[in-house]
Amino acid sequence: MALSDHPRHPLTFGPSPVHPLERLSAHLGGPRIWAKREDVSSGLAFGGNKTRKLEYIVPDILASGADTLVSIGGYQSNHTRQVAAVAAHLGLRAVLVQERWVDWEDPGNDRVGNIELSRIMGADVRLDDAGFDIGIRPSWEAALADVEAAGGTAYPIPAGASEHPLGGLGFASWAHEVVAQEAELGVFFDTVVVCTVTGSTHAGMIAGFAEIEDAGGRPRRIIGIDASATLDKTRDQVRRIADHTAGLLELGRDLRDDEITVLPGWEGPAYGIPDASTVEAIRTVGRLEGVILDPVYEGKSMAGLIDLVGDGTIGPDSTVLYAHLGGQLALNAYSAIFD
Ligand code: PLP
Repeated sequence: MALSDHPRHPLTFGPSPVHPLERLSAHLGGPRIWAKREDVSSGLAFGGNKTRKLEYIVPDILASGADTLVSIGGYQSNHTRQVAAVAAHLGLRAVLVQERWVDWEDPGNDRVGNIELSRIMGADVRLDDAGFDIGIRPSWEAALADVEAAGGTAYPIPAGASEHPLGGLGFASWAHEVVAQEAELGVFFDTVVVCTVTGSTHAGMIAGFAEIEDAGGRPRRIIGIDASATLDKTRDQVRRIADHTAGLLELGRDLRDDEITVLPGWEGPAYGIPDASTVEAIRTVGRLEGVILDPVYEGKSMAGLIDLVGDGTIGPDSTVLYAHLGGQLALNAYSAIFD
């Protein structure tokens, strides 16, 4: 089944914008850096990468007859905020398990930013003390059972919408969108840099670009920067979801190991905790470009991009596409790092 045969329910304004980061490129002194902006591509509660994933999941939600979306993330999960927005948009309820994924003492951590917006949008937000894990959790299974026990019909959406069977399609379609934008703009992005945690953003890109390459497209590198600090789990999850998504697209071959790159080095001390390189990357891009990154995800992937340019892994002749996946609302819970 081709990608275009998979039903898609639009939640975005259309293709996400692509633009050059001229002053960052000049500052780094080599490759041309561009950004593709999932953070400004939807009118639903500030959007982000999960909104694009959910476009391919909504048709299944509607077909299921469910009345309640049940999902899970950390207190400052961007994903659960986007699930709350989509539920509101569709006239459904949302139950969100919000675990203590990050050992972070900001007084607003369980009140401001993402979680505040989920509450505004009417989600049933349930705090849970469990720590970080991208896998399937008992608290989430209990929330699903609660909905059913109360006579509702639950639709399960796992963390990051990643382990969902259709979770990789949104970013397989992103790959096709990139190729169309390249043709319009007259550029070729030989390197894509993306932040990777629950895996389906990166995995979808891998499957989508593999399909494009097999149809005669130019090969390119897709570099995932780990922000989970549980590298082996994330790498396995990327592989599994990429394989599954390639199967949905009927790629007709196994993905090669060299198509799957998840690099450690910028994850900081733990998921959700920035290190000096994260904070420096956020300040650099803020001051040079007026573009805002967050300390959980995009600050880490940008720190990776900057260092990979610095050590020559991304050469001076490269044209790089930085996937900006959203996430800024979490900054509300990290004010102390910019005091
Ligand atoms: N960037 C942001 C802003 C996110 O919210 C997420 C979600 O986890 C990611 C990057 C990583 O995406 P994924 O979980 O699909 O690996």
